[in-house]
Amino acid sequence: MFDYHVHTDFSADSKMPMEKACETALEMGVREIAFTEHLDYFYPNSEFIWEFDYIQYAQRVDALRKQFEHKLTILKAVEVGMHPSTYKRSKKFTDDHEFDFIIGSVHIVEDLDLHNGDYFKGKNLKDSLETYFKIVHNYVKDYQDFNVLGHLTLIKRYLHFVKSSWNQVEWEHYFDIVEEIFKILIESGRGIEINLSGFRYRLDCTLPNLPFVKLYKDLGGEIITIGTDAHTKHFVGNHLDTGYGILKEAGFEYITTFKERKPVFHKIDSLF
Ligand SMILES: [Zn+2]
Ligand SMILES: [Zn+2]
Repeated sequence: MFDYHVHTDFSADSKMPMEKACETALEMGVREIAFTEHLDYFYPNSEFIWEFDYIQYAQRVDALRKQFEHKLTILKAVEVGMHPSTYKRSKKFTDDHEFDFIIGSVHIVEDLDLHNGDYFKGKNLKDSLETYFKIVHNYVKDYQDFNVLGHLTLIKRYLHFVKSSWNQVEWEHYFDIVEEIFKILIESGRGIEINLSGFRYRLDCTLPNLPFVKLYKDLGGEIITIGTDAHTKHFVGNHLDTGYGILKEAGFEYITTFKERKPVFHKIDSLF
């Protein structure tokens, strides 16, 4: 199995040593792990700096690649938080450094943070969702420099700010715009991930969940990864089987890994 979304102490919101993540990955039966550290050049009202030192990061990965040789494949990766004001700078960072895999994520919508609730002030459930999908659509269209779109429907984690929850939403209302998002990704050789952080947030669902993954498949989507979005060792490799189950249920026979930002396809049945 592959865990393609893990944060370590190179990310502002994680204290996990990379070595600990590697050890846990092996215990959990993970053969390949991507350290997708945060890079958000625009993050308003945050106590953290969402950047990391690439040289130190690469040295650490290289050392662990030696230590875990023949046991674990370790990817140099990054989770780029997209924002129009930083497209140029983010692209320069990923162009200037060697990465195997890049996740493009939307954490900030209309200059406002989803996580701290600022985004939801003065909005109802419908406004929140409509604007969220519109912005994701714009970013995916305007920013090309990533391999998979991170945690589509991330907004599910924060709907308590509008006194709602994800299972009260009629998600079909947003299928049209999500279809447009998927078409842009597919046509440009990019894909999506199944993000398992919903289990950490006790939502009991993946981001995105089965209906969206199925929609992506039906539109011809092939590139798809699964990641826990772990920030501590307790979540590395956790619930990956749920992700694979959704993949199969949606009709996928192959899962994607990356090497030097190029996709590689593996028959799912051959992994178990
Ligand atoms: Zn994220
Ligand atoms: Zn993440």
